Amino acid sequence: MKLLIVEDEIQLADALSEILKRSRYSVDTVYNGIDGLDCALTGVYDCIVLDIMLPGMNGIDVLKNIRNEKISTPVILLTARSEIDDKINGLDCGADDYLTKPFVTGELLARIRALTRRKGEIVDDDKLDYNGLELIKSSAAVKWQGNDVKLSLKEYQIMEMLMANPRQILPKERIIEKIWGYESDVEYNNIEVYISFLRKKLVSISAPVQIKTARGIGYFLE
Ligand code: CA
Repeated sequence: MKLLIVEDEIQLADALSEILKRSRYSVDTVYNGIDGLDCALTGVYDCIVLDIMLPGMNGIDVLKNIRNEKISTPVILLTARSEIDDKINGLDCGADDYLTKPFVTGELLARIRALTRRKGEIVDDDKLDYNGLELIKSSAAVKWQGNDVKLSLKEYQIMEMLMANPRQILPKERIIEKIWGYESDVEYNNIEVYISFLRKKLVSISAPVQIKTARGIGYFLE
């Protein structure tokens, strides 16, 4: 899962980013509205945490622009207690949720989980299921019947993408974009290394699920 944080209080932004990364999200952080809009318009995020009072362009205008471009990424607005009108305005403009500062990070995590839950695919907050193969968030493991095996962070993120989009071929470019980011110079064969680790791990727990290669395109689960 890829998140965008748009927050000009650098300490808060960086602290949130750290906490979210520890919860196995990949996170991009920007500190003004213009950069926030630029990133959001790529449409690659699963959720955006958007402050209202921002330099460059305020959060409400960022949100209006995102929705005008028909980008439906869930947005959580961060508001100060004094910005109550902005909050109402924000919800009218297409925000999905809001949090009033100061907030506890556990609450932000719960809101993000609620907004990024995909109907019918996630059995509970901690588990993603594909035909009995389970991806367990809290232990970063894949599980088949009684067997489980731990995944590294990148393996986990790739597996999560595959299991969240079970009937689709995931293009390599999209995996790189989501997990390594645009600026990355990850070579395609690097992904192949992670895929081969994942395949071995699926075999090691006797899972009947395989990661197939769509030659020249990407990967899918079967
Ligand atoms: Ca602010």
